[in-house]
Amino acid sequence: MNITQVASATHEEVYRVEAADCGLIGFIAIHSTTLGPAAGGLRMRPYDSEEAALTDALRLSEGMTYKNAAAGLRLGGGKAVIMGDPATLKTPALLHAFGRAVDACQGRYWTAEDMGMTTTDMAELARETRYVAGLADGTFASGDPSPITARGIFNAIRRVALHQFGDANLTGRTVSVQGLGNVGWNLCALLTDAGAKLIVTDINPDRIAAAVDTFSAKPVGLDNIYAVEADIFAPCAIGGILNENTIPLLNVKAVAGGANNQLAKLSDSDLLAKRGILYAPDFVANGGGIINVATEVLEIEGRVDWVAKKLVALDDTMEAILSEAAKQGVSPAAIAQDVVAKTIKARAA
Ligand code: NAD
Repeated sequence: MNITQVASATHEEVYRVEAADCGLIGFIAIHSTTLGPAAGGLRMRPYDSEEAALTDALRLSEGMTYKNAAAGLRLGGGKAVIMGDPATLKTPALLHAFGRAVDACQGRYWTAEDMGMTTTDMAELARETRYVAGLADGTFASGDPSPITARGIFNAIRRVALHQFGDANLTGRTVSVQGLGNVGWNLCALLTDAGAKLIVTDINPDRIAAAVDTFSAKPVGLDNIYAVEADIFAPCAIGGILNENTIPLLNVKAVAGGANNQLAKLSDSDLLAKRGILYAPDFVANGGGIINVATEVLEIEGRVDWVAKKLVALDDTMEAILSEAAKQGVSPAAIAQDVVAKTIKARAA
């Protein structure tokens, strides 16, 4: 296996990992360890190029620094990506090789599940490194973080509903959901329980069929999810989907979802604000998962209560951000950036 350092002006450490015998090519990006060991999940996707994979790792790891700070965790920001379709290329040998690369970071980076990964995969990584969380078994095992991530997003959806409609109650509200994977599916279940109506899409037709069956959701095509009339849009798939092409199409009053890096660029949040669409900053809305993972990294006793308290604090942070944005007449994204920058500075001092 070859691990080579990639020069970076923005990140503390970046590595390219290659193991020809199992077809592994991936990256580990450590953005910041100011608040503690860098923590963030491992994603496997069929990226078009190494450049695209590296860019994703760099953006996602920076986002983890903000997310961990916003969630009040003593963790820095990191992320890892593996190139390839998890359905066909993910093998135990590939996961073991990547586990050895994580181990080589000697605890400066902790990994966990992200897109294309499961608790079973984390168990494979754990055969090679102790710096892996999101495990199903073990003294501090925290399991699949997705249900807690979904709970945090659900809280964020209630917050934006309160701000936009004067009522956090979701009964009768329509939520459009992009992506019906681990997070999107759990979110759909919470929304259905709360009496919301769902419009859904996914690249996987089986997921759509299951959501129609389970939640009586209305299915729409991949590109149609942007223009559908709904109260709130919840992106729960990939990043960059809020951009100059999609924002003019939106027919909702708010966006609150779980996908990382929803804005193609920060200034796209201004486009949303101009259209009167309230945006719940993604790295605050989806912080539940890393809160859950943190119990394993930080070896927290009484994790259920600890997670519940942190989720309440996260919800308070979201409320503070949305209120301040309304007061200043600016986008919540800008306020959220400000809040975490101050948190990191204060805690680093
Ligand atoms: P997942 O792989 O389980 O699910 C993703 C789903 O999105 C899949 O069903 C996939 O078919 C679908 N999808 C992919 N591209 C799509 C597209 N262009 N349009 C519509 N659907 C598409 O992943 P997940 O764990 O549910 O994560 C979803 C998002 O939430 C990711 O951005 C991830 O980084 C973020 N996130 C996840 C967690 C977590 O706890 N799993 C925590 C924080 C953030």
